[in-house]
Amino acid sequence: MPIDATLPYDSDNIFAKIVRGELPCNKVAETEHSLAFHDINPLAPIHILVIPKGKYVSWDDFSAKASDAEIVDFTRLVGKVARGNGCVEQGYRLLANIGKRGGQEVPHLHVHLFGGAPLGPMLSA
Ligand code: AMP
Repeated sequence: MPIDATLPYDSDNIFAKIVRGELPCNKVAETEHSLAFHDINPLAPIHILVIPKGKYVSWDDFSAKASDAEIVDFTRLVGKVARGNGCVEQGYRLLANIGKRGGQEVPHLHVHLFGGAPLGPMLSA
């Protein structure tokens, strides 16, 4: 069920628990402000989620409220994970679902990194 990304941050969401170490994840990389882990239900041969560790529901509040250090750290980790998983030469896709119309299900900002195969059209008709 897509979430309302304008609601306040819910500290009980599943990615908050992963950040706090209360739930496991299949970690790919970690920095001071960000974490990357494999999606539990991969939709491509490479399907990695990159999240900020801070309490941001979506791209909207992250881009408005995160510190420069958090934004730089997050952006660089997305690029590093793509390079580190051999995605750059063949190409890959980044996707962030935001709110109800975006189909966001977990109310903690995450970027999906898809790769490892041709990914088809951006959206199905
Ligand atoms: P979204 O629809 O953009 O909110 O995507 C949420 C993503 O989180 C989905 O691709 C899920 O498969 C993934 N997901 C949910 N729970 C976990 C988990 N515990 N570990 C890794 N990925 C998860």
